[in-house]
Amino acid sequence: MKYEMILVRYAEMAIKGKNRKHFEKQLEQNIRRQLKDYADVKIKRTFGRMYIELNEEPLKEVCELLKDIFGISSFSPVVKTELNEAAIAEAALMVTRDSLNEKEGSFKVAVRRINKKFPTGSQEMNQRISKAVLIQMENLSVDLHQPDVELKVEIREEAAYISGGVIRGAGGLPVGTGGRALLLLSGGIDSPVAGYLAMKRGVTLEAIHFHSPPYTNERALQKVEDLTNILTRYGGKIKLHIVPFTESQLAIHQQIPDNCEITVMRRFMLRIAAEMAEQNNQKALITGESLGQVASQTLDSMYTINSVTAMPVLRPLITMDKMEVIEIAEKINTYQTSILPYEDCCTIFLPADPKTKPNEKKVSYYESFMDVDEYVNKAVEGIRTIELTGKREQDIEMENLL
Ligand code: ATP
Ligand code: MG
Repeated sequence: MKYEMILVRYAEMAIKGKNRKHFEKQLEQNIRRQLKDYADVKIKRTFGRMYIELNEEPLKEVCELLKDIFGISSFSPVVKTELNEAAIAEAALMVTRDSLNEKEGSFKVAVRRINKKFPTGSQEMNQRISKAVLIQMENLSVDLHQPDVELKVEIREEAAYISGGVIRGAGGLPVGTGGRALLLLSGGIDSPVAGYLAMKRGVTLEAIHFHSPPYTNERALQKVEDLTNILTRYGGKIKLHIVPFTESQLAIHQQIPDNCEITVMRRFMLRIAAEMAEQNNQKALITGESLGQVASQTLDSMYTINSVTAMPVLRPLITMDKMEVIEIAEKINTYQTSILPYEDCCTIFLPADPKTKPNEKKVSYYESFMDVDEYVNKAVEGIRTIELTGKREQDIEMENLL
C-alpha cells in the first residue's frame, strides 16, 4: 500500500472568475515543466483541483518540487485502495501515522461516500475507521473541532482515496499569469529576492545586469548567472541580458561631480533597462531597493532617479528590513551565492559622500553636458543575452559528453 497520487489545491485562483481557466492551465503547465524529469507523472484537472498521478515516480522528490511552484496553496499525498473496509482501514492507519510523524496527537475521520453502492453509510464508516485506527495507535485521540490530522476518505466508483497530511504550498499566483517584467539583477542579496517575490505574483521575468569590465570581472558575471539559475527553480527559464556599462560609467566619472555620480549612474541604468523593457514588451522594471537602506534609496534619491522614465518601477522589498530580506534569501537558496565576494559596478569609483537628497534639476543640468542618448543607445546595442535553464554549464557539458 502506498501513495499513488497527490491532491493539489489552489485557493487564490478560485476567486478569479473568468480568468480561472487560464490560471488553471498555466498552473498545470508550470507543474508539468517542474516535474519534467519524472516522465511517468500524469496531471489531471477536476472541479477546482488537480491530481498528480505518480505512476511509480518518487513521492518525496515530487513533493519537494511542488513546494516551490507558485499558485499551489497546499497539497496532500493520497492513497488509493480497493473498495473494501479492511483495505480502507489499513490505508487510514498508514496515513494517520505518516501525518503525525510518530508524535502523539489527535485526529478526525471524514468519510464521503460518493459511490452509493458501497454497503456501509458514511456515518457508520467514520466510526469503524476511527476505531480501527485508534486500536493501533496508543497516543492518538479523537478531536472533532481542531484535530492535528483530518483523515479524508472518499469512496468513489472505482476506488477509495485516503489522505491526511496537508503540506503548505508556495502560495501566490502561477508564473505566466501576471505579465512580463524586467528585473535589475545585481550580484547582491536583495535583487534576487525581489525577483522571487515578483514571480510569486505570477510575473514572467527576464533579468538585466550591468557589467563594467575590467573593473568587474568574470567571477561577478558567473555569480549573476548562478543567481539567475537558482531563480529558474521558481519560474522556469530566464533570459539574462548583460549590459556593457564601462563606457557610460567612465564618462559619468569624468563629467559628473563626485557626490552626484551614483545618482546619475542609476539614472543611466534605469534608462537602459527601460529601453530594453520597451523593446521586449515588458511592462515594468523590478529592483531590490528598500527604503532608506543606502544613500541612493532615500525617497529623494528614488524621486530623482525615477524621473528619467515613465515605465513603472516595482520594488517588492521597499518596506523590508535587511533581516527580513536575508530570511527569504536563505529560504530560496540565493543567500550563499549572494554573499560571495565580488566587485559590483556600483562599488567601483564609489564616492565617500553620496548625496542623500540629490536635486533633480541639478542632476539634469550636469547630464546636459553629456550625450546621454548616445551612451544609452550604445549600451543597449551592446547587450549580450543568454538564457538560463537551471543547469550550470559544467552540467550541460557533462551531459553532452555522456
Ligand atoms: P542588491 O543586494 O540587490 O545588490 P543593494 O542593497 O546592494 O541591492 P544597490 O547596490 O543600491 O542596493 O542597488 C539597488 C538596486 O539596483 C539593486 O537591488 C538592483 O535591482 C539594481 N542594481 C544594482 N546594481 C546592479 C547591476 N550591476 N546590475 C543590475 N542591477 C543592479
Ligand atoms: Mg548591490
